[in-house]
Amino acid sequence: MLPPDSLLTLTPEGLFCRAAQAWIDPWRPVPRALITHAHADHARPGCGEYWAVGSSEGILRERLGSGIRLLPVDYGQLHRIGDARVSFHSAGHVLGSAQIRIEASGESWLVSGDYKRCADPSCAPFEPVQADVLISEATFGLPIYRWQSGAAVAAEIVRWWRSAPDRPSLLLCYAFGKAQRVLAELAGLGVEEEVLLHGSVQRLMEPYRQAGVAMPPTRPLAELPRGESLAGRLVIAPPGAMRGRGLRGLAQAQSAFVSGWMAVRGARRRRGTGRGFVLSDHADWPGLLQTVRDSRARQVYVTHGQSSVLARYLREVEGLSAAPLEGAFEAERFEGDGEPP
Ligand SMILES: [Zn+2]
Ligand SMILES: [Zn+2]
Repeated sequence: MLPPDSLLTLTPEGLFCRAAQAWIDPWRPVPRALITHAHADHARPGCGEYWAVGSSEGILRERLGSGIRLLPVDYGQLHRIGDARVSFHSAGHVLGSAQIRIEASGESWLVSGDYKRCADPSCAPFEPVQADVLISEATFGLPIYRWQSGAAVAAEIVRWWRSAPDRPSLLLCYAFGKAQRVLAELAGLGVEEEVLLHGSVQRLMEPYRQAGVAMPPTRPLAELPRGESLAGRLVIAPPGAMRGRGLRGLAQAQSAFVSGWMAVRGARRRRGTGRGFVLSDHADWPGLLQTVRDSRARQVYVTHGQSSVLARYLREVEGLSAAPLEGAFEAERFEGDGEPP
């Protein structure tokens, strides 16, 4: 729990800053929300105003409604909100994702949101930020989690795709973030062939194209003329699409799921797809530790996932003051269809 007189406190609506009269990624509708990024467990509908990085605007309006009151900010810009000074810094998680730094009464706090430190051509790189107190996610907060580069995983995906020239290859990726990251990694490997997209991925492509993210040409699967062969084609769809309609012509496809959770024993089997590619938009164990060190925080709170394991490690090995932060923070689960990691 956070001390009741600290700069940030927990209310039933979520993480609250009294000085700014604002909530960070609130769970319920509030007058003023500071949004780290547009994933559904961080950006919820019904708030009076949303502060978020400008490049996430297209995604936020697509998901929360075109009429939301949105105040777009730039990375690094300092804003006075109430009695607080607030800035957003790149989190390297998805397009427009931010860590939020709040300063008031001579004290600074950094809320990491979701973040990762390895290269991702679909969004701005992670920026190390210092603060007195850090609230960090720990979705993959166990020493067993160490990621390969996105380019290496994309090369594995291409090999898998090329191994089946006589049938379609169906790649299951979360619609916002993962799908576009895979496309951008493919472009980085020189893939120029058209990739077919499920409608829910297609809907989120425009903000990425506008942001200048290089990706292969894409087309909605639904726009493919009836009877056209899907042999050798790559199709990207969200995991939930397996159970729904809209994947016509894919009965013969080889399928694979792309997620950090594919590193977890048993997850692949439960998912029931042929193959899993381990690619996460969250920091791995070394990335979490590096972020804590870079922050130079004297107090660390850990949310999401393996919070008690990381907090204990920080106390016992790194000699820091650290504690899990309980609340309604949801660890992202691979079973969920809408979202991450
Ligand atoms: Zn996220
Ligand atoms: Zn999250």
